[in-house]
Amino acid sequence: MRIVVQKYGGSSVATPERIKAVARRVVDARRAGNAVVVVVSAMGDTTDELIALARQISDSPPKREMDMLLATGEQISIALLAMAIHDLGEPVISLTGPQGGIITDSAHTKAKILEVEPARVRAELNQGRIVIVAGFQGLSRDSADITTLGRGGSDTTAVALAAALGADVCEIYTDVKGVYTADPRVVPSARKLADISYGEMLEMASLGAVVLQPRSVEYAAQHGVTIHVRSSFAHEEGTYVREEKLVERDMVVVGVAHDTNVAKVVLVDVPDRPGVAHRLFSALAAEHINVDMIVQSTKQEKTTDLLFTVTRDDLPKTLEIADAVAKELGATGVLHATGLGKVSIVGAGMVSNPGVAARMFGALAANNVNIQVISTSEIKVSCLIDLDQVPVAVRAIHEAFGLGEEQNAPATSVEG
Ligand code: ADP
Ligand code: ASP
Ligand code: MG
Repeated sequence: MRIVVQKYGGSSVATPERIKAVARRVVDARRAGNAVVVVVSAMGDTTDELIALARQISDSPPKREMDMLLATGEQISIALLAMAIHDLGEPVISLTGPQGGIITDSAHTKAKILEVEPARVRAELNQGRIVIVAGFQGLSRDSADITTLGRGGSDTTAVALAAALGADVCEIYTDVKGVYTADPRVVPSARKLADISYGEMLEMASLGAVVLQPRSVEYAAQHGVTIHVRSSFAHEEGTYVREEKLVERDMVVVGVAHDTNVAKVVLVDVPDRPGVAHRLFSALAAEHINVDMIVQSTKQEKTTDLLFTVTRDDLPKTLEIADAVAKELGATGVLHATGLGKVSIVGAGMVSNPGVAARMFGALAANNVNIQVISTSEIKVSCLIDLDQVPVAVRAIHEAFGLGEEQNAPATSVEG
């Protein structure tokens, strides 16, 4: 029997009515003759509300207890969905992440799936049951504690189960019809892509396109799972995320991504000598803090300024570490700023097309958007700008590359 893995995000299960609608979809898939595994997220904004609740209790809640709390969100939705499916007359069972065999490391609140032990899920499927697994949570291999996988982590639960069960497609049902050339909530003219390569999708997701958790794309690429992102509110095909050789396209830039969860930190006047960057960034890495953009100025003096960005969530811990390291190194001080956003263009064709970055900068200049930091790779260009200019910037860049039009500008037409 063909195994189908479906994942429904928070907005798709936000209300009892929505849960009942999802139940009908799941039952349809089962009655079409498939073995069905369903991964669900917490209802609506439950995870945000739980985080806010914890903050009312403590400024720095222990991460292990945070995971105990956050994991409850998904437990509500699995049970309710199982009840709705039961009422429709199909055999069904709900399982927590640990019961579903999701084994992780012990990095609480950002745990990584190490493996999936699918024996229980398989046994339930063999009994003819629809199996519902709580997304976003797992069991630490070392401590046997409950862990969570970072925001958007249910996507990764679904992909990991699809890989372990040998499903050829993992369906991610969400509140938009697929992956678009930009966030359709910011750019109304954004166009839905029929397909996108793992590499481009990983970049889009890492640069802020929250439609898929970056780790889910990485996992899919490693295990050869095709992801189908589609709407839980409609029946049409969405976007396939798959191997590059299967994706037909002549676009240089495939999309524009933006990230509003950015904070900037500057170590002022650090001594200009070997080992400084290593000291700081290894201390941050030890706390699992991901550093994004890094700029070090060369002032032709004995000191230098070291600027970097992290997510806003990581800012308090980052400042704690940066302050300590700054003192140790004899820096003048540590500055920080929020109120920033990052806009990026992504495309595998970029590397062989000079002038792509210039076109992006031109669109920003024409709209009076000041660029604070630039970073580039073969497949993307990112600019750090003021937060309130992000929507204008995204729309301007999207338009400059003709992404909303039916016929995209062919590769050769993108010049400076
Ligand atoms: P879910 O709760 O289903 O996991 P998310 O909110 O995590 O849903 O992801 C879906 C959202 O991703 C959309 O509502 C959309 O605003 C946002 N998004 C950002 N960039 C893109 C993009 N390029 N294509 C589609 N959606 C995007
Ligand atoms: N509920 C979790 C979150 O809000 C996981 C998910 O939705 O994928 O991040
Ligand atoms: Mg999500």
